[in-house]
Amino acid sequence: MAGGEVQLVQLIKRFGAFIAVDGINLHMPAGEFFSMLGPSGCGKTTTLRMIAGFEQPTEGQIVLDGEDMTQTPPHRRHVNTVFQNYALFPHLNVFDNVAFGLRRQRVERGEVTRRVREALDLVQLTKFERRRPAQMSGGQQQRVALARALVLKPAVLLLDEPLGALDAKLRKQLQIELKALQQQVGITFIYVTHDQEEALTMSDRIAVMSNGRVEQVAPPRQVYEEPATVFVADFLGVSNLMDAQARGLDAQGHCQVRAGSFDLCCARGDTSVSGQTKITIRPERVKLEKTNVSGENRVPGQVERSVYLGNAVQLIVKLATGNVIQVLMQNGGEEIPFNPGDSVQAHLPRDALRVLTDTGAKLPS
Ligand code: ATP
Repeated sequence: MAGGEVQLVQLIKRFGAFIAVDGINLHMPAGEFFSMLGPSGCGKTTTLRMIAGFEQPTEGQIVLDGEDMTQTPPHRRHVNTVFQNYALFPHLNVFDNVAFGLRRQRVERGEVTRRVREALDLVQLTKFERRRPAQMSGGQQQRVALARALVLKPAVLLLDEPLGALDAKLRKQLQIELKALQQQVGITFIYVTHDQEEALTMSDRIAVMSNGRVEQVAPPRQVYEEPATVFVADFLGVSNLMDAQARGLDAQGHCQVRAGSFDLCCARGDTSVSGQTKITIRPERVKLEKTNVSGENRVPGQVERSVYLGNAVQLIVKLATGNVIQVLMQNGGEEIPFNPGDSVQAHLPRDALRVLTDTGAKLPS
């Protein structure tokens, strides 16, 4: 099935007076691995259910391959869903579970066999045709659920936390498999998760959601390195948020801010902010120095704690701005030269320091 382009136009879902989805506009081109990422209750599943047709939007449109499908029943959309709980038929073996949808569509017997085998081959379960779900591991059952969805050749596959019930190691393995599978079959995947690492690992683009709204849509690297809002910075990894006072732009257009009694320069972020604002820097971008080196964006501090993580060491540093930040240093095999109690200087490189959009903090135009 060709196609798979999805457009959500000003989509709203109200349950009584409660607004679960609050005016979402998204465009997923055909063949994209798109994730909706956000905390529990932010409206991800409701959005997915509206795309599937299980839930009717209060307002707005669902457009699939240029056709308005808002009123079209689920079975008439070229969309299929994989749920977290697999929803396999326990009394049927793997082959019959996967064949179920095709038989219901009265597909000819030889064709059913060919397509089921093809789908099982895709998810590497060829040898498991005769097993019942109860005789398989969680990861294998989830692969059966995937095969069952893929066998119907949907243009769009919706996945609602499909790896949520699996242990961490298996999740990681299946994340890689899922991404490879999506590239192989080339259909649009719309993937719902509250797990940022999962979204970062697999997606072409991610929509970060909060309170029924989209905060930012961008490729993984961008949402992590260039968070647009305080929420996105905070939700994806460690944000080291610091309060600051915006003090205008320098000749190069970089934002000058004051944090505590320190003047800092932010080369990235929302340069239109004014007044009280927030700045952010990722832990791995902070550079610690032992001695006082004069230069831009240097703030003295003291190491409070050091946590050995195996591949890295995490240092908790109290800055003279009053903020406590996390610093991550890769473990290169040598002793990390910073210990609790040490006086240090934190270098916050201007290219790594971002000023964030915060509600009500925009410069008048
Ligand atoms: P989770 O990760 O926990 O599944 P989510 O981001 O997928 O969360 P939704 O399931 O879309 O969130 O729910 C969004 C909000 O809408 C929640 O506050 C939820 O309680 C509410 N909600 C969802 N379905 C209904 C319903 N049928 N009736 C009333 N409220 C609902």
